[in-house]
Amino acid sequence: MDSIKAPRGTRDVLGDESWKWARVLDVTRGVADDFGFKEVMLPIFEHTELFSRGIGDTTDVVEKEMYTFIDKGDRSITLRPELTASMVRAYLEHDMRHLSQPLKLWGWGPMFRYERPQKGRYRQFAQIDFETLGASNPLADVEIIDSSMEIYRRLGLSNLQVLINSVGCPKCRPAYRDTLKAYFESSAHELCDSCRGRLDRNPLRILDCKQPACRALTDNAPSVIDSLCDECREHFATVTQGLERLGANVKLDNRLVRGLDYYTKTAYEILSGDLGAQNAVCGGGRYDNLAEAIGGPHVPGVGFASGVERIVITMEAQGAYLGNEPKPDVYVISSVQDGTYDAAVIAHELRESGLSADMDFMGRSIKSQMKIASQNGAKFVCVIGDSEAASGTAGVKNMATGEQETVPRGSVVENIKNKIS
Ligand SMILES: [Zn+2]
Ligand SMILES: [Zn+2]
Repeated sequence: MDSIKAPRGTRDVLGDESWKWARVLDVTRGVADDFGFKEVMLPIFEHTELFSRGIGDTTDVVEKEMYTFIDKGDRSITLRPELTASMVRAYLEHDMRHLSQPLKLWGWGPMFRYERPQKGRYRQFAQIDFETLGASNPLADVEIIDSSMEIYRRLGLSNLQVLINSVGCPKCRPAYRDTLKAYFESSAHELCDSCRGRLDRNPLRILDCKQPACRALTDNAPSVIDSLCDECREHFATVTQGLERLGANVKLDNRLVRGLDYYTKTAYEILSGDLGAQNAVCGGGRYDNLAEAIGGPHVPGVGFASGVERIVITMEAQGAYLGNEPKPDVYVISSVQDGTYDAAVIAHELRESGLSADMDFMGRSIKSQMKIASQNGAKFVCVIGDSEAASGTAGVKNMATGEQETVPRGSVVENIKNKIS
């Protein structure tokens, strides 16, 4: 029988890597605290309708990429492909609009999309997600963008490019859609097949097509900025000037669009040159009409999502500090025939005193245990060989300096604690 492997597009994050994730999440939590975002933990699956309404029926995510199934109660359930729709659902469900506004929420966890797996892209991937709900003030957009950049700054990432655009609002977007459609119609034969299909349904999405022919055409496409209504234009100016005041290096990118009515005004992405084709570490923007799309009242919102795998890949590529792999303070070594019980007691006492400790369970020789202590990066070893067992003592060795001494069993913990502090 073949052994069972993890499904295509998933990956195991093992002990040689999970501590890097821990650093990303620790730093993120610190930024969330400093900006006043409260952590929420939301379900991994939701009613399918939340996403078909909240992301949009005509998006690739909803059309092709969702993990949707009928559960045993005959409900259509979907493994969440993103967190924003769930955040807004939770905000509405818990009547958070009656609390003092805005609500600043953050969360993280696995998301699921049926995409073609490649480096930095998986079918199960982890995202960090920040959302400010209930504020239409453009300074909330500035703060969201700043909070994402602050995470990367604290993680030591460099060489990031912030791209920003406005996607307008339901008042000004129809006119832009018409302008764009007219522009592309004259050269429709040059568009790729999927873009020709988009021409009627959603011409804005042609702007983010990656096909070279379509990209060439979009180079000279009319800019959305020229079609913005006064309100959208003012909002965009405040956001870009606010970011400039913070010293952020942002670049206008007219291709950055989200062709759905719930996405409004600000859209942004942060790219890393060290990620290859999958170069976005962060994507976000404003979605003032999303709450209504999923059946709620009008609730303005702005947020971002950032992929943990991509952050870790970028940190590795840039040689950023990845945190420390946890290493034991003390490895307790005992001779095979005797002293194993003593080792367990000493390890217990060390841990109780606040130190980390490890020991052997495999009946290895003292020499092999010493080797393992060294491989594990232990700062000290505590040795109870036959003679130490007989005399009620233990050997304490500093692995960095090689210094060792024999101490009474009862003062091992104190001895090592003093040396470490
Ligand atoms: Zn507008
Ligand atoms: Zn195309």
